[in-house]
Amino acid sequence: MENYFDLSLEEMKSYGYKIVDLIAEHWDTMREKKPVAEASNRKDLDQIFLQEAPEKASNANDVLNFVMENIVPNSTVVSHPKFYSFVPGPSNYISTMADSLATGLNIFSGGWIASPAAAELEIVTVNWLLNMFNFPVKEGGGIFTSGGSMANLTALVTARRIKCGDDFSKAVIYLSDQAHSSNIKAIKVLGFKKEQIRIIPTDFEFRIGINKLKNAIAKDKLEGLQPFCFIANAGTTNTGTVDPLNEIADICEKENIWMHVDGAYGGGAILSKKGKRMLTGIERADSLTVDPHKWFFQPYEIGGLLVKDASWLSSTFSEKPEYLRDVEGNESEINFYDYGIQLTRRLRALKFYMSIKTYGLETFRKAVTYNIELTEEVEEYLRKAKTWEVVSPATLAIINFRCNPINENLTEKQIDYLNQEISKRVLASREAVFVTTILNKQVVLRMCLINPRTTIDDVKDTLNQCEKYAKEILSEIKKES
Ligand SMILES: *Cc1c(COP(=O)(O)O)cnc(C)c1O
Repeated sequence: MENYFDLSLEEMKSYGYKIVDLIAEHWDTMREKKPVAEASNRKDLDQIFLQEAPEKASNANDVLNFVMENIVPNSTVVSHPKFYSFVPGPSNYISTMADSLATGLNIFSGGWIASPAAAELEIVTVNWLLNMFNFPVKEGGGIFTSGGSMANLTALVTARRIKCGDDFSKAVIYLSDQAHSSNIKAIKVLGFKKEQIRIIPTDFEFRIGINKLKNAIAKDKLEGLQPFCFIANAGTTNTGTVDPLNEIADICEKENIWMHVDGAYGGGAILSKKGKRMLTGIERADSLTVDPHKWFFQPYEIGGLLVKDASWLSSTFSEKPEYLRDVEGNESEINFYDYGIQLTRRLRALKFYMSIKTYGLETFRKAVTYNIELTEEVEEYLRKAKTWEVVSPATLAIINFRCNPINENLTEKQIDYLNQEISKRVLASREAVFVTTILNKQVVLRMCLINPRTTIDDVKDTLNQCEKYAKEILSEIKKES
């Protein structure tokens, strides 16, 4: 019999060992690497990669070497200690190997019958999360998704199904102007019209304006519309801000509105004492998005959705006639294809399970606490310096600030230019990934410090580099004027 794809045991082992060696070496030398990709434009990369799909086979080692020589240096290292932007992907080695194992075993994680252990692991690890967030473990439930975007989409489909049934022509959904773009994307996917979306302005601390929300709901009700869902932030991506969750929960209860909390960024903070305090009220949500590939230190991809009542998911996504449910087996034996959009699913729960079992929650708690405290230390350092101005204080490991040297009397436009230019030069040096965001119409530098490898010396190093560039830029500005 011809064997198309399989290798001999010896070939499999030697090829596999090589890959493990490469991964382990990558982790071991991460700090010495440049976090920014070598080539950034399409033309350069086309020169390396562009070709027709090859008809003829190649030597496996040659292909692997090509990948290591060309793909690795042309990728951003999101787990690098000096990757400060967006949301870093610190990951962890146990989960990295667990994910490789999950792929190696290729376990189908859709239905109970196909792989009971996969479903059981997902049930058990989802329960861990339910417990962490004080959701009811008995009636509650959840599902792992590819990431926060898919978790938000899954939540909003469920919210609409439960609150509106089939007719959502009068339904209105509310979110703050700081809500993550994936929510608007999900709303678009769901086919809502622009007139059904209310974007509520935030206050000077980037929190939803509660009175503005109340007014919007009252106005919509007067017009005969159906307010059905509010998306609250538990850690905005820009500033780490948590909306006033208890006040929002009161409104949602009173108005019969679904409370979805997007905790994709901030959810992990529940593991620290301070974070837990800041997230008070999160347990009152109907649904909650968490994103283990962010602040639970997992490699991509794993997101998660938790709900107060697991039957909300099954009654939304199950496509079997209800009368077949009983013959299908015990209801506690969950088919996760009934809980979300995907049928064929990889075993995402394995890395979560193995890393928490191996390191213990204790280690995760210490790491999250360290991240929060490091960011506070950075704030203290910036406040003492004459060059820096804190724009949004350290909140759940995010801080925003800008370079604005006193005595220079720069215009707002010059300060914007200065900070934009600092970020550009840092990126060009390839020493750090450090980019700007816009807050209150100002260009500000944003640091998200959820990587436990990042030290205060790393941050000071980068800030010194920024100050050096600032001097250059200021003298350029003076020459021009
Ligand atoms: C990152 C993020 C998302 C999207 O999650 P992905 O895993 O990137 O799909 C949603 N909401 C918030 C608040 C986020 O920070």
